[in-house]
Amino acid sequence: MNLEKNKSVRGFNFNSKFPYSPKNKRGLIFVIQKHAASYLHYDFRLAINGVLKSWAIPKGPCLDSNVKRLAMQVEDHPLKYATFEGVIPQGEYGAGTVMVWDYGVCIATEDLTKAYKKGHMKFELHGSKLAGTWYLIRTRTTSKNAHWLLFKAKDKFSKNLEKYDITKKHPNSVLTKCSLEEIEKQRLNDELGGVFYNNLATPSLSV
Ligand code: MN
Repeated sequence: MNLEKNKSVRGFNFNSKFPYSPKNKRGLIFVIQKHAASYLHYDFRLAINGVLKSWAIPKGPCLDSNVKRLAMQVEDHPLKYATFEGVIPQGEYGAGTVMVWDYGVCIATEDLTKAYKKGHMKFELHGSKLAGTWYLIRTRTTSKNAHWLLFKAKDKFSKNLEKYDITKKHPNSVLTKCSLEEIEKQRLNDELGGVFYNNLATPSLSV
């Protein structure tokens, strides 16, 4: 795999500490990893307070503002995991194939750290696949985890699900253009379990 070539696939410099300008003080890194674990799901991750807050979305994001998707909060992940693509071996946490499905910047007019604590977040996504205004709302907390809903606001980026399913239209990696099957196959051919396409530093600008 040509790492040099992949560095700038997304259109911003993967060598820079943050993919957004210092003016965007409320810009956070977001990533969505498609994850073929015991069941296929999409992990939505936001860099808040130096970690990736994470939600597993079984059906993935939907551009239809009438469709709300269950997002179960899962363990925080380290920042550098944001650009991991590869295979987590059987027996380890999250075993299965991981793809970086979308990656970009999440911008809000409110303080997203406070909004996260409140369980009511409204933000704009600037990714390769997802754009426009989104909501992430906590609905209930069980002893095991918190249940949230991710859904699109009605705007010029929203689309009717019957006409356009973004998970089907754009199934592949935003970094390497590979499918889950291709990622799995590549990993069998080298000794690396996976590749971290970036080294994200502590996001002092993320709050
Ligand atoms: Mn996962």
